[in-house]
Amino acid sequence: MSKRKILLNLAKQYNVQLKLKANWPDHGSVDLETEIIYIQFKQSYSLHFLLSTFYHELAHLLCKRNGKFKLFHTVHLEKLSKPQQASFLRTLWRAEVYVDKLAKSMMKQDYPNAKFLTGYTQKKKSQFQPLMVYQYKEYFNKVNKRKS
Ligand SMILES: [Zn+2]
Repeated sequence: MSKRKILLNLAKQYNVQLKLKANWPDHGSVDLETEIIYIQFKQSYSLHFLLSTFYHELAHLLCKRNGKFKLFHTVHLEKLSKPQQASFLRTLWRAEVYVDKLAKSMMKQDYPNAKFLTGYTQKKKSQFQPLMVYQYKEYFNKVNKRKS
């Protein structure tokens, strides 16, 4: 079975909408409002990598549905109050680590032999966390300016 077919079947199995795009800007993302998962799909990507991306985004969606790390999985981020924004920034890394753990355990159940590629390791934290915080801060600043 082709990698494309495997991913699309998996989406069907989990009853989620999946769009595979060659030029998607991230490896994967999920629109929490429409609940559509987008994956940057290239034939050269390994199945391990594509599956890891799919399960990571699926885990975000399940967190949203189950109210896990609720602030981080808010559909309308622009509606967060300033204290909520601060809390969002403090917990974003922990939320991603949690999502990765959930994704890993789901993938292990479905594909016991596939290797889950973790995106949010302790090692990557020093490199990526400040960048993520910075990007969301910029976003919140813009939103707050518009509101005032
Ligand atoms: Zn994530």
